[in-house]
Amino acid sequence: MIPNSLFLADEEPTIDRAVRSDKPEEACGVFGIYAPEENAAKLAYFGLYALQHRGQESAGIATFEGDKVRVHKNMGLVSQVFNETILDRLPGSLAVGHNRYSTTGSSRVSNAQPAVVDTRLGTLALAHNGNLVNTAQLREELLDRNFDLVTTTDSELIAWAIAEEVNGGQPWLEGAIRAFNRCQGAFSLVIGTPAGLMGVRDPNGIRPLVIGTLGNKPQRYVLASETCGLDIIGAEYLRDVEPGELVWITEEGLASFHWTKEPQRKLCIFEMIYFARPDSVMNEESLYTYRMRLGHQLAKEFPTPADIVIGVPDSGVPAAIGYSQASGISYAEGLIKNRYVGRTFIQPTQSMREAGIKMKLNPLKDVLAGKRVIIVDDSIVRGTTSRKIVKALRDAGATEVHMRVSSPPVTHPCFYGIDTDNQDQLIAATKSVDEIAKLIEVDSLGFLSWKGMLEATGEDPNSFCSACFTGDYPIPVPETVKRSKLILEQPTPV
Ligand code: AMP
Repeated sequence: MIPNSLFLADEEPTIDRAVRSDKPEEACGVFGIYAPEENAAKLAYFGLYALQHRGQESAGIATFEGDKVRVHKNMGLVSQVFNETILDRLPGSLAVGHNRYSTTGSSRVSNAQPAVVDTRLGTLALAHNGNLVNTAQLREELLDRNFDLVTTTDSELIAWAIAEEVNGGQPWLEGAIRAFNRCQGAFSLVIGTPAGLMGVRDPNGIRPLVIGTLGNKPQRYVLASETCGLDIIGAEYLRDVEPGELVWITEEGLASFHWTKEPQRKLCIFEMIYFARPDSVMNEESLYTYRMRLGHQLAKEFPTPADIVIGVPDSGVPAAIGYSQASGISYAEGLIKNRYVGRTFIQPTQSMREAGIKMKLNPLKDVLAGKRVIIVDDSIVRGTTSRKIVKALRDAGATEVHMRVSSPPVTHPCFYGIDTDNQDQLIAATKSVDEIAKLIEVDSLGFLSWKGMLEATGEDPNSFCSACFTGDYPIPVPETVKRSKLILEQPTPV
């Protein structure tokens, strides 16, 4: 699922919202495989391919053949970074892979992962999804002890912290656990070592990580950010890595260690409403089904008479179908998405600009003309996408445009790895729903309630992080880090 955004030809082609952050790390895709007698690099390639929506900036795979570690990583999509020849140069039955989310400030190949670090016990390769909140402190600690940091990522710091513990005499597991206890924030990790493969989640389990088995040989295990990374290689979902758990996969099988005293479930709700792929399974059902239920709830909370319901492709579609089912108003496709508009996009010509060509989303005039339209999207973050979409719908002849959003207003930035921007860029941080409706020029606007969003999960509402909607951060964020992104002091009442 490439992030939605519609832009007109007279605008800068910074297509993805993804390019605007200068944070060191973002939500990424991680993959690990331990599969004796298999070509692990090739399986990792396909796993990363399925996880491409989690990061499009760079991709990398490290393989282990006994003590020998090989790594290939570069800027670009998985299909651009790897080919058969490169994969043939990555032999071994243990592999670790990573897709990195686009950022501006740190968009360079040296920041691509896996992070590879030498230790007393051999080389380790680490792939990280999430954001640490104590990066500055950890960096200072390591710099003070003369570690030669080569990247600006928090992920490299975790790798060096493990190396430091191992070099101080600790075995792999004890060393890693000591290092994890020095990290605060969100981290789902896949770590390859010559002795085995590790999968780890932080004590709050903010970012997802699942375990799969491959074939009927029990010792073949797969780790992936989402279940879609298992499906693509025919692996069976076994279970999630639990918050605060470390799984250690070796020739002896899978061993589990609970490395923190007080784990709690705080899965990022934004993974469920937008970030993860709709065919991935979380909490025992596909996110497609969950998102459709958000649409049912939205229709209950914000009904309105209309002729058609449309979704913003692709991420608004399941909730739009749900809204249509619950309201009885027919669902139609009103916007067609060109899925091949990439980031390295060539500037449109002046004549295209003048014609106001829609590059990424093209409205279907004959579906929309003369209709009262309900348009459903998964979220409004800055509000720029919705404004353009509403204008495009009106230009195509819609007589009324009612916007329904299958999540509450995003009022607070994320410190744990989703690129929700600094608070001053978030339209709902400073504007009321009525003001937003005026700005994006809709006839009516309804955001799903926080309660409705959480109740639709069917799980304990406390088992999710919903800080972007409330300002209630489950992992304390140091003041200096908070101040870099927050403009408002108080959490928003829900
Ligand atoms: P905007 O309100 O213009 O910032 O854009 C909101 C749209 O971007 C929604 O349609 C979402 O599907 C999508 N979106 C939400 N969060 C993100 C994110 N972290 N990265 C990229 N796209 C996002």
